[in-house]
Amino acid sequence: MMIVRDIPKLKSLLRAARAQDKTVGFVPTMGAFHDGHLSLMRVCRRENDLVVVSIFVNPIQFGPKEDFRRYPRQEKKDVFLAKKENVDIIFCPSIKNMYPDGYLTSVEVADVSNRLCGRSRPGHFRGVATVVAKLLNIVEPDRLYLGEKDAQQGVVIQRMIEDLNVPVSVRILKTVRETDGLAMSSRNQYLTAVQRREAAVLYRALKSAADQIRHGERRAQRIRQTIRRMILRESSARIDYVACVDGNSLRPVDLLQGRVLVALAVWFGNTRLIDNITINII
Ligand code: AMP
Repeated sequence: MMIVRDIPKLKSLLRAARAQDKTVGFVPTMGAFHDGHLSLMRVCRRENDLVVVSIFVNPIQFGPKEDFRRYPRQEKKDVFLAKKENVDIIFCPSIKNMYPDGYLTSVEVADVSNRLCGRSRPGHFRGVATVVAKLLNIVEPDRLYLGEKDAQQGVVIQRMIEDLNVPVSVRILKTVRETDGLAMSSRNQYLTAVQRREAAVLYRALKSAADQIRHGERRAQRIRQTIRRMILRESSARIDYVACVDGNSLRPVDLLQGRVLVALAVWFGNTRLIDNITINII
């Protein structure tokens, strides 16, 4: 496995691979690997000749009051874990390499960026779309691997890829969870023991919403109410949003039909966690 920090060096390595007709799979991350990241690497390994994983804590997707400075960084451990998954190249650019002096450009995916998490994190998805556009131009992968856990991120990136005619196919993979159902996240390590225990309510609430839908409930308001009630029983939880939206447009729905995304963001102390489920109603 190679660790590459330099953009021209990575490009020349990938040019050589492509000249040998090798397919390239790409997993962009912010590091602090857990089984969610590793599951993306595993599928990427199965489906491509060359596996590239980036580790870059992207400053422009964090708001001024967010956790950019304290975001976990553990490069040595990440390198060890990626090696075990037979990753070929870890790309760890510096901030200066990605955003050199004089940098001015950003990619804005309108509408879908401003819903759900976009409301409480203004500019977040502009930062995400911009860094992913840059990474796709650098790596030029055949396949891009994303996690379902960041559902809105997936919608924003897929929209950008279609709108800008980026020649890559996107694979969105299932959320990997702890045994009590909590979606794995690098931010889970911020939680106190009490918050960590209480955070398991998120998936319990989503599952009970799914049950309610399975039993025929179609009113979004009822579904949201079920979820909110369950979450508010936990003393450290503060709800940012609980939403039922169309899985493609992310527009709120009143009556559930088609592919519906039930998504939430909840604060536990200073830590904001997100989770979601997608339900297909036929
Ligand atoms: P991050 O390092 O948080 O930016 O995440 C990098 C990639 O891993 C993104 O595509 C995430 O959606 C994905 N990911 C994060 N957590 C999980 C999880 N629990 N299960 C599956 N994929 C995940």
